[in-house]
Amino acid sequence: MSANEDLVECCPECGRARIYKLKRSLNGGHADHEFAYSCRICSHKFDDPDEREPRNDGGMDPNSLAARLDRASPEDIGLSPVGDRGDA
Ligand SMILES: [Zn+2]
Repeated sequence: MSANEDLVECCPECGRARIYKLKRSLNGGHADHEFAYSCRICSHKFDDPDEREPRNDGGMDPNSLAARLDRASPEDIGLSPVGDRGDA
């Protein structure tokens, strides 16, 4: 059982999983080298895609503020737990 079974292949340049396989040459493959994959997002071409867990593939930039907030707990972003506001 491979530990990679739950991973998705993604672009090593931008990290998005919107990659597609480029067609290899049909006559043996050595004539003129072509990369195996290309990225739909940034058009980066590569042979070996990165792998990552298949989350955040809904179009959210993992480095965006929204994504960081999504991963943070309320305390991390400065919100007091409900009932601890002292304004009763
Ligand atoms: Zn990319």
